[in-house]
Amino acid sequence: MAVKKSRESIGKDLRRIIDADKVKCEAEDLLAYSSDSIRYYAKGDPDAVVLAASVDDVSKTVKYANDNEIALTSRGAGSGLSGGSTPIQGGIVLDTKRMNSILDINKGNMTARVESGVVLANFHRSVEKERLFYPPDPQSMDVCTIGGNISTRAGGPRGVKYGTTGDYVLGLEVVLADGSVINTGGVCVKTSAGYNITKLLTGAEGTLGVITKANLRLVPLPAHSKTVFITCDTVQLASEIVSKIIYEGVIPAVLEYLTAGAMGLMNSYNPMPIPLDGQAYLLLELDGTNSAIDEDVAKLKSICSEMKAKNILAIDDKNQADLVWEARKNLSPLVLRILKKTITEDFTVPRDMIPTMVTAIGEISQKVGIGIGMAGHAGDGNIHPNILMAQITEENEKKAIEAIDMIAKKCLELGGTVSGEHGIGLHKSYLLALECGQTQIDLMKRIKQAFDPKGIMNPGKLWTEAVS
Ligand SMILES: Cc1cc2nc3c(=O)[nH]c(=O)nc-3n(C[C@H](O)[C@H](O)[C@H](O)COP(=O)(O)OP(=O)(O)OC[C@H]3O[C@@H](n4cnc5c(N)ncnc54)[C@H](O)[C@@H]3O)c2cc1C
Repeated sequence: MAVKKSRESIGKDLRRIIDADKVKCEAEDLLAYSSDSIRYYAKGDPDAVVLAASVDDVSKTVKYANDNEIALTSRGAGSGLSGGSTPIQGGIVLDTKRMNSILDINKGNMTARVESGVVLANFHRSVEKERLFYPPDPQSMDVCTIGGNISTRAGGPRGVKYGTTGDYVLGLEVVLADGSVINTGGVCVKTSAGYNITKLLTGAEGTLGVITKANLRLVPLPAHSKTVFITCDTVQLASEIVSKIIYEGVIPAVLEYLTAGAMGLMNSYNPMPIPLDGQAYLLLELDGTNSAIDEDVAKLKSICSEMKAKNILAIDDKNQADLVWEARKNLSPLVLRILKKTITEDFTVPRDMIPTMVTAIGEISQKVGIGIGMAGHAGDGNIHPNILMAQITEENEKKAIEAIDMIAKKCLELGGTVSGEHGIGLHKSYLLALECGQTQIDLMKRIKQAFDPKGIMNPGKLWTEAVS
């Protein structure tokens, strides 16, 4: 979409429509909003940034963008890993972080109503004070927003037992491309009323509307939890144990897969390091009543002994367990301390295909000649391959693209998906057609046309050719 108005006039117009202090047009602001957290990929300077504080601000901004055919990119914290909030066609970036109120926590109905700019970890803390639990836990939870989570259907380690963001969204307040405001769904745990627009907007990556409020389902806060650590001699064995654990009916709240390298890095951050004597590690959190946890630990020990895992360690000290999880949360930033660049992918395969996928990624790494680390939410088939680059060179970049392409194709061949949680955004837009086929892409385009006839909402995302 070509911006027809000059940068200067867009800024001036916006300052007439909404409070002038909510509109930023200085070069340093525009640079700060020119990409999401993956800064080494494509960038695009916006022409203006609006710091919306209310649905009214959003509505006026969107209507202005639509009337003038100016691209509009919604943005939460910009922590995305797929270029989703990168304004590649310039225009207006709509920052939602000032809309950060938790409007209601209803203990009787076990639901909450929040503004979309609420930071996830703040929401976790607020509901947990009421002994309620909101399970979705993308590891960026200290910064990412509920609106960003909903728009990407974000997930995290707890996906294996509790599902991901999409499983908790009951209703949405959304500003459509013409500036009108709709409320979808509601606060009931079920509805059969017509097309499920809530689901359609959940994961739409800001291409269909701007989410301003959400009704979210809550569950009871588990009474207890225990962290368990399994050491394996081989990556293959760790993968096989993942499938076996779940098949035997032990559903951990979290089931993470880590290579020896990843564990070594986590130990460097952890004042109470875990002994390292294997090639692959499983880090689990069991939750529930103490007796249910004890039963699960006993089952795990029996599985590990039968399958000849090297070691199983239940961490009884809560402080030590918290340190391990804190280190896990910081794994990506830790990798970036020693390497120049990593590309974190979120390919996901059916759980029984984990061993095949892990082996294939090892072979691809060898064949292409580039390091690929692996750590991920293995319990739900989401093994994050991390393409590791000690130096940023043209040759390494080429190898990285080749490796990602090969992994994506293998993942699809095994019945997987090219994005388990980060979304398609910009960087994976060439892969969506491989997964869905052109007929479905064409259907998505017609849906987009119905919501956003002028194509102003986050243009250039999801599929390769720009919508204009
Ligand atoms: C260290 C690190 C760890 C991470 N770990 C995980 C993980 O475990 N799991 C996971 O799923 N992701 C993870 N991510 C990726 C990212 O944090 C998530 O995708 C998160 O949901 C993005 O939220 P955000 O508020 O930053 O959204 P942004 O990055 O700002 O936006 C993401 C997308 O949502 C759209 N959007 C944002 N807000 C709205 C709105 N209100 N209305 C409409 N569209 C909107 C944007 O246009 C964009 O397309 C990680 C990122 C980092 C940097």
